[in-house]
Amino acid sequence: MTQSVVIVGAGILGVTLAWRLARQSNLKITLLDQADAGSGASQHSFAWINTAFSSTPDYMRFRAQAGQSWRQLDQDTAGRLNIQWSGALSWQQTPEQTAAFIQQQQDYGFHVQACTGLQIAQLEPNLKHFPDLAAYALDDGAVPLDHVIQSLLQEAIEAGVNYAAHQRVTSLIHHQNQVVGVSTTHGNYFADQVVLAGGVGNHALLHDCKIDLALTASPSILMKMSYQHRTALLNRIVSTPEMELRVCAVGQVLAAEDYIDAQAQNHPELIAQQALLSIQNNLKASHGLRLDQVSVGYRPMPTDTLPLVGAVPNLQGVYVLNSHAAVTLAPLLCQLAGQEILSGNLQTALAPYRPNRIMSASS
Ligand SMILES: Cc1cc2nc3c(=O)[nH]c(=O)nc-3n(C[C@H](O)[C@H](O)[C@H](O)COP(=O)(O)OP(=O)(O)OC[C@H]3O[C@@H](n4cnc5c(N)ncnc54)[C@H](O)[C@@H]3O)c2cc1C
Repeated sequence: MTQSVVIVGAGILGVTLAWRLARQSNLKITLLDQADAGSGASQHSFAWINTAFSSTPDYMRFRAQAGQSWRQLDQDTAGRLNIQWSGALSWQQTPEQTAAFIQQQQDYGFHVQACTGLQIAQLEPNLKHFPDLAAYALDDGAVPLDHVIQSLLQEAIEAGVNYAAHQRVTSLIHHQNQVVGVSTTHGNYFADQVVLAGGVGNHALLHDCKIDLALTASPSILMKMSYQHRTALLNRIVSTPEMELRVCAVGQVLAAEDYIDAQAQNHPELIAQQALLSIQNNLKASHGLRLDQVSVGYRPMPTDTLPLVGAVPNLQGVYVLNSHAAVTLAPLLCQLAGQEILSGNLQTALAPYRPNRIMSASS
């Protein structure tokens, strides 16, 4: 029976798990981060709770459930997380691709409607150019991620979680195949279970135990912009082949852009400047939009892009928690992982996402 847990990493996954375990149990919980909570990939996230094209039916159903879990978390926290349930308007390169996306989403029970050009203009009057068909995902939302992480962390601490920032976990402490704790830059912590929620850092921690996790750091660009207008530039999340953006607060806009490579002509600042021009070409009343900050975040990307959740074969006492879409999936993943950690009963919904599918012994 698990009595103590060390969670490595205080991003959206580690903090949500600590919050959930603290609410549901009397476990002794320690949450460690090498820097401050929310300072990893979560700091640079566009933070859209979204539907997506997916390669597997299981994963489509899982993502549909993930949206419901966020609504439940919103209720459980009585709206304190300030989630924006604005919905999202999107289209693809061709009308055929957009139609296929809408059909796929509807087949899996997502609340997604087809919108005509006239409806798009009514929903988003500031859009200058749009096609004759768009997908309107009514249940999508976005989260002020830093506020969510700080709020859940505060509640977790009040519920007894021991949070220690600026303590880098340097290795797992194990006797043969049983992990019993972690070594950090400030000393050792012992526990029955060690949960690795360190984002891209999970790879190095397991590599140290001669396990190769097929998880890469996938860069992506976040742009923070501001404008002077009193009215919102957009009413909902808008995702098109040219831009992905949303208004996150009065006078503040976020956009996400693909990172290309390290060549000078693809520098994130240059990509952001080009994206700003494209946004201004596509939006009325956006000439005063100013680029305030450009940053690159490293998403933890399992090679098959599916989540990684569960125990590590041949290494007792370690549980891995990773996803490249961890914002969308955090409440659902942490609810299911929490049940497994507390009861020891495996959750069927997690079966397709076990780490062993992309793990191997390293030399
Ligand atoms: C530009 C961009 C846009 C995105 N948009 C979306 C989106 O719209 N929707 C969506 O769902 N996802 C999106 N993502 C992805 C999402 O942000 C990430 O999947 C998520 O933030 C990962 O959360 P995490 O808790 O797993 O990792 P992180 O946030 O990286 O947290 C891991 C923590 O572990 C700590 N850590 C690591 N190693 C150690 C160690 N050895 N010792 C102690 N601490 C350690 C780090 O300091 C960090 O705080 C986006 C990402 C980017 C960059």
